[in-house]
Amino acid sequence: TNTVSDLDFSKSADGLLPAVIQDAATGKVLMVGYMNEEALEKTQDEGTVTFFSRSKQRLWTKGETSNNFLFVKEILVDCDGDTILIKATPAGPTCHTGADTCFGEKNSQDTRIGEAAFLNYLQKQVIRERKINPSDESYTSSLFKRGINKIAQKVGEEAVEVVIEAKDDDADLFKGEVSDLLFHLLVLLEQKNIDLDEVISVLRSRHS
Ligand code: AMP
Ligand code: ZN
Ligand code: ZN
Ligand code: ZN
Repeated sequence: TNTVSDLDFSKSADGLLPAVIQDAATGKVLMVGYMNEEALEKTQDEGTVTFFSRSKQRLWTKGETSNNFLFVKEILVDCDGDTILIKATPAGPTCHTGADTCFGEKNSQDTRIGEAAFLNYLQKQVIRERKINPSDESYTSSLFKRGINKIAQKVGEEAVEVVIEAKDDDADLFKGEVSDLLFHLLVLLEQKNIDLDEVISVLRSRHS
């Protein structure tokens, strides 16, 4: 696989190569911009995405006025060294319209991400939000309010319900109970400040 040293900026007449910015957590495409060699160097040096803006005709650090920076996680280069893919963590909405991505609300919600990635979204966006900003109407907030023992107990109860439904052949009921279990597990992880990613890393390390 190619790395940044394989990039050939002379492949485009103006020395600009497209840079696709992808959300490192969800895989959503956040935006696309152009980079010259200098923009890429600044991006690597500072760890925040800097483009060469064709409209401004200067280096442009995304977030320079809005503070909605894109923090670099990983830089990948395509097969023939003329396109950059950057996995990044956005500090806020990436689009200047206020949307999470430049490709519209559909992409910014859960609909475009894979089903497994939705679990990540559920923990990091929805469940975490209910923990940080509790509301009276929220069941999830009420779980956090009742504390770890109650949350752990709910995981146990849902696990038992999964066992019961496993014996039946109603697939929809079974899927419902597995969903309840996964949801309460995510709440338990969040209560313990552990990301689902960390658990998946354990699974991955066992696999290799
Ligand atoms: P920012 O870099 O977020 O501080 O925004 C500075 C300016 O860059 C905005 O006023 C827009 O003109 C432009 N801009 C910001 N985000 C985007 C984007 N995702 N795509 C295109 N232009 C943008
Ligand atoms: Zn290419
Ligand atoms: Zn935009
Ligand atoms: Zn249940």
